[in-house]
Amino acid sequence: MINCRDCASALNPYLDRELSDDDVVQVRAHLEACGGCLHLFQFEESLRRLVRVRCQELSAPQSLRERITLRLAMERTRLQRLRPEL
Ligand SMILES: [Zn+2]
Repeated sequence: MINCRDCASALNPYLDRELSDDDVVQVRAHLEACGGCLHLFQFEESLRRLVRVRCQELSAPQSLRERITLRLAMERTRLQRLRPEL
């Protein structure tokens, strides 16, 4: 079983589907067992969805994209502060 640190560093490759099948199984098992990492995963997943949708709107002004990116960075920092072991 992987630990929280491994899980956190695997989240992005997991979402990018860059992990091997074995690693995917490990991450999924950890997410099922660990509410904190699941929360982080759900945050990363929704973040990606938001960025994808927003960036597909080609008319979205640069300033809006920058605001979203900043908000997301702040939220990520907040989550990481709640979980100092990461
Ligand atoms: Zn965990």
